[in-house]
Amino acid sequence: MITLSELRTRQAWPLNQKIDHTCYAVEAFVAYCKEHGRTPYVSFSGGLNSTVLLEIVRRFVDPNMPGVFCSTGNEYPEIVRFVRHTENVTIIRPTMTPREVVARYGFPLVSKEQAHGIYDVRHVKGEKTRRRRLEGVANSRSVMISKKWRYLINEPYEVSHKCCEYLKKGPMRKFYRNSNALVMLGTMAGESNLRTGQYLTRGSCNTFSDDPRKVYSAPLSIWTDTDCWDYIHRFNVPYCPIYDMPGITRTGCVFCGFGAQYGGGSRFRVLNNLHPKLYKMVMNYTNNGYTLRYALLRMGVQLPGEQPELFGEK
Ligand code: SF4
Repeated sequence: MITLSELRTRQAWPLNQKIDHTCYAVEAFVAYCKEHGRTPYVSFSGGLNSTVLLEIVRRFVDPNMPGVFCSTGNEYPEIVRFVRHTENVTIIRPTMTPREVVARYGFPLVSKEQAHGIYDVRHVKGEKTRRRRLEGVANSRSVMISKKWRYLINEPYEVSHKCCEYLKKGPMRKFYRNSNALVMLGTMAGESNLRTGQYLTRGSCNTFSDDPRKVYSAPLSIWTDTDCWDYIHRFNVPYCPIYDMPGITRTGCVFCGFGAQYGGGSRFRVLNNLHPKLYKMVMNYTNNGYTLRYALLRMGVQLPGEQPELFGEK
């Protein structure tokens, strides 16, 4: 374990020191894989961080390092094109489409932790779980549902955390089972409180365990977005051109409602500007006969061209 102030010190290191640190972590991970008869690979999303990770690994450690991209059917078309043009990347797919996942399990809204809590209260039988989610319990890892989002417990549509499971984690696990490979991720500790907490507990980029399912590497843990851009410019690294389009700050799943309450609806405005057909399609994903558009408006998200009087329409 390390302290938050130690993490902050590492995050303030100059880029050269971070590159050395990352290479050291990758080399240690690759050596571990070799020793245990496993193949290392980079989980490649086509986004900024994994683009940097794949490049750094191929430049300094192993030019043949494979990448794996999980195509959820939920990405910007520019990302898919960029991935297809990147060499030595295997594309895997989930067995369900985003539309099917949403229809069966509900919309991913607010945050993974809040959506999980709402799902638990609606579906898990047991007073203990319900109390934990509504009243909170000291030292419990379950997050309490915040007052602001409790209305979601009684909405006519479902809200859940399961989308990631069916669209991303499940296909990755299947790949892992079939390939015996171990993953390197481009995640950074500064991305969220959850990631910060995970890094503080691990204390380093690599996690080794007797259980191979728990072994992984996150060699960019102490990096920031600014470091990634500095690296890209220093080494002239090709990146997905979507980052040069106006308003783009994120390139993840286009319909995700996690964090949609922030940014004044800009992610949906940008999607609508760049790909209006795609925007229309995802807004019409439904659960229990209610659209994603309806659920987002209920959350107070500002959607392009929506009039306040439309609020509450199905
Ligand atoms: S990031 Fe959001 S939309 Fe994408 S798979 Fe996870 S929950 Fe679903």
